[in-house]
Amino acid sequence: MEFSSRTHNLKPEGAYHMLALAGQLEAQGREIIHLEIGQPDFPTFEHIVEAGVRAIQDGYTRYTPAAGMPLLRQTIAQDASKRYNLEITPEQVVVGPGAKPALFFPTLALVNPGEAVIYPDPGFPTYPAMIEVAGGVAAPLPLLEEHRFWVEAIALEEQVRALERSGHKVRMLILNSPSNPTGSVIPKDVLQDIAQLATDYDFWVLSDEIYSRLTYETSAPSIVTLPGMQSRTIICDGFSKTYAMTGWRLGFGIMPPNLAEKVELLLTHAVGCTASFTQVAGVEALRGAQDQVHRCVEEYRRRRDRLIAGLNAIPGVRCLSPEGAFYAFPNIASFGRSSEWMAQYLLETCGVALLPGTAFGAHGEGYLRLCFANSMENLEKAVERIDQALRKLSAA
Ligand code: PLP
Repeated sequence: MEFSSRTHNLKPEGAYHMLALAGQLEAQGREIIHLEIGQPDFPTFEHIVEAGVRAIQDGYTRYTPAAGMPLLRQTIAQDASKRYNLEITPEQVVVGPGAKPALFFPTLALVNPGEAVIYPDPGFPTYPAMIEVAGGVAAPLPLLEEHRFWVEAIALEEQVRALERSGHKVRMLILNSPSNPTGSVIPKDVLQDIAQLATDYDFWVLSDEIYSRLTYETSAPSIVTLPGMQSRTIICDGFSKTYAMTGWRLGFGIMPPNLAEKVELLLTHAVGCTASFTQVAGVEALRGAQDQVHRCVEEYRRRRDRLIAGLNAIPGVRCLSPEGAFYAFPNIASFGRSSEWMAQYLLETCGVALLPGTAFGAHGEGYLRLCFANSMENLEKAVERIDQALRKLSAA
């Protein structure tokens, strides 16, 4: 069958592939520890569930405006104004079914065929997919462990120049801090250098901040707060990770009002609107008490500390401590096998499902990604099993 060229390079997300492989083993009776999928293991908080159920009973079952219910847009704008210490109006907020629409639709609205978009590698696999669907040139920016997986301004400027020399205007840069898959948080001084480049070379910044409330040592600064950046920044954020609401499908983007209008048109024609009762639950999530979010972060921190210490105690494994999100990204290059091979080996020999670093781009080679939004008991068992399997591999 013939398909359009814009779909030629689309691939499934690595996590779904691994989930399917793990499922096959489970069907044969194997017990698998699932560290491959990136979602909280906690249920959605009770007061949010109650608000959603009540909303259905109260008749919030009809279409809403495409950009979201006015009350939710207003609530998000108020919350963001406080968080960023900026004046953000409801007209700048666009609500969508999940955070992904706040990545995909601004990209479609801004990027012309042939224009370049620079994105982090390793990084979330939706980035190159959406750039290619928009007809843009997907330009991976390598993030290196020796630079704590931060975007390096010098390397970024070189890449911008090289792309422009080869005739590709750089239209947008994607940032993701805290990062999936590395958990790294970009510090403010690095963001300042990046903001300067965005101004000098006149490009947009799409800042994916979906993990910004899940940080451990420091909070994650946002590039939108830097002088002159509000008019060229799109923030992608949502409820999935912070409020354990992955299946509710609720996210939002914050952007200049004229871009928000275009994104609203794309939403109108692509999805119509976001589920109305889900939006009511979103208002409760932001306006209600935040103590459960803080408790989850504390629990993730305990699990992170145990997991990272366990991984670093395995001969041949080296792992930075993530400052945000809930992923460990250990370096396993010393075993001399590909990440893909290692992930498959660990699944088959010890029943631990995790992802190869290459599920996040070519520069993920030599790494694995483990999600620690899982019980302490499972994490300890997983480390023990990985330890044994890797010792066996080294001895072979
Ligand atoms: N951005 C990043 C970095 C993510 O890891 C994810 C989900 O895994 C998303 C965006 C998408 O979030 P949602 O499920 O709300 O669409």
